Amino acid sequence: MNAKIIVVGSLNMDLVVQVQELPKEGETLLGIAMSENPGGKGANQAVAIGKLQASVSMIGRVGKDAHGARLLDSLQQAGVDTQYLMESTTPTGIALVTVDGHGSNHIIVVPGANFELAVADIEQQRAAIEQCEIVVLQLEVPMATVVYTLKLAKELGKTTILNPAPAQPLSKELLQYVDLLVPNEHELQSLSGIEVIDEASLKQAAIALLGQGVQALLVTLGAAGCCYIDHDGFTMYPTAKVQAVDTTAAGDSFIGGFVAGYVQHHDMAAAIAQAQKAAAITVTRHGAQVSLPTWNELSNA
Ligand code: AMP
Repeated sequence: MNAKIIVVGSLNMDLVVQVQELPKEGETLLGIAMSENPGGKGANQAVAIGKLQASVSMIGRVGKDAHGARLLDSLQQAGVDTQYLMESTTPTGIALVTVDGHGSNHIIVVPGANFELAVADIEQQRAAIEQCEIVVLQLEVPMATVVYTLKLAKELGKTTILNPAPAQPLSKELLQYVDLLVPNEHELQSLSGIEVIDEASLKQAAIALLGQGVQALLVTLGAAGCCYIDHDGFTMYPTAKVQAVDTTAAGDSFIGGFVAGYVQHHDMAAAIAQAQKAAAITVTRHGAQVSLPTWNELSNA
């Protein structure tokens, strides 16, 4: 059976160090613990969807190395179809992550094989895209590949979701192929050039992007929840109060919960409720993919 959801994006091994406080410039300090966790925004979102038992395939690139093999295994354990993943001679991408005792993090990504995901690779997997319902992308693979994939998906009549992370300028051409843009506040601010400080500026920034061709936005607001904006209006969705220990993958968990909920219900409010429930669980746990909830955990929460 062909997957209903296709994630086109990055796979990284996260090298995570826990510290009490994040180091200041020039400072050396002792860490508490170090671990290697499968991550990358694309793989995290695919795993988030797979763990919620929705049908999902991933298109991406890893190196011919141990990190790549572990990432593949992690996707398969979560029920993600990996037949469209390709291998490069360049090493698998890595992310150097530092997490402090308050749950805040610093992340540096070295893209490696992710930056070799080419337009020709997407063309090669055209049949898979033809048969899916929703295509999900982020910005950790080359921009030309992101634009090509979004354009192809729209030509084939698919729903497109773009998580514009990490934030970078987006062309007007790209924005017109996006059905739903899912930025956090910082990404929204950098995309719109409008400082987001309150509800009025949030609306103003979102409206600026609607004016550039995006059909709708779902802006994540950390502990404040999220808001949905389209040409018909603006709705705030507060979220449950939880004790956050590590916000790594909160956005990925949110998107996974949303997309899995959307293919099941085709209802925005139900999908948003599932997104926030999944993300609220993720922030109470350490790590990226390991912190993403399963369908059973979500149902019992
Ligand atoms: P962010 O990327 O920080 O905007 O977070 C994405 C989503 O994760 C938010 O829209 C919330 O649903 C959830 N989330 C993030 N931080 C928290 C938190 N401290 N408490 C509860 N939910 C959170």
